[in-house]
Amino acid sequence: MAKKIVAGNWKMNKNLQEGIELAQGLNEALAADKPNCDVIICTPFIHLAKVSEIINHDVINLGAENCADKASGAYTGEVSAEMVKSTGAEYVILGHSERREYYNETPEILKEKVDLALANGLKILFCIGESLEQREANEQNAVVKAELEGSVFHLSAEQFANIVIAYEPIWAIGTGKTATAEQAEEIHAYIRSVVAEKYGAEVAANTSILYGGSCKASNAPELFAKPDIDGGLIGGASLKVADFKGIIDAWK
Ligand code: PEP
Repeated sequence: MAKKIVAGNWKMNKNLQEGIELAQGLNEALAADKPNCDVIICTPFIHLAKVSEIINHDVINLGAENCADKASGAYTGEVSAEMVKSTGAEYVILGHSERREYYNETPEILKEKVDLALANGLKILFCIGESLEQREANEQNAVVKAELEGSVFHLSAEQFANIVIAYEPIWAIGTGKTATAEQAEEIHAYIRSVVAEKYGAEVAANTSILYGGSCKASNAPELFAKPDIDGGLIGGASLKVADFKGIIDAWK
């Protein structure tokens, strides 16, 4: 059975004090009302060490939003997977469409990042998803398959157990437009079939496939009720305790 997960992606929001406040608030809310799923918060690099000290890691896992494609050395401004891991973080988001689009992260670069993250003991939230143009041309299945093949399908089955897939249609990210539960289920089932083809049915059944794109407390229950949707990767609605907790509670 795939783990049920709700993960937050804070993106470039919250200064350090605001981030600490948000992490503390979430920690308290979940201590008072234990979640029925794994919870992950992915924060900017500068928050990681401090947030790691604050949260109860038995209830909230910590992740970064990115890591470098190089192990160490003269790469000014970069943060390595090893550095991320040393903060107490357990996860890293890789392949987010914003990084692919604005920072030109190619499948080859992402493959390097994936290998370094795994070598340093991090689990990966690996994002895939099509643009509006690609969906209108009915290319979504080919796009997500190519994204998996390009950056994670070189892994052994044992390594692949550390990958959580996040399907995020680009046209639904931050736009308020959510894929319908049926649209999301259709492509999640396809993604699982592609994983099964590559790694077998058991690995596919154990792979968590999250939905991301304008997910909120009001639409999460319908999305999470679908058999191939194992939770969500949440942007905007992860920035307030009540909103994020509302999505976590969709698993109750
Ligand atoms: C995201 O960017 O990972 C995301 C899902 O954003 P939002 O929830 O704001 O659409």
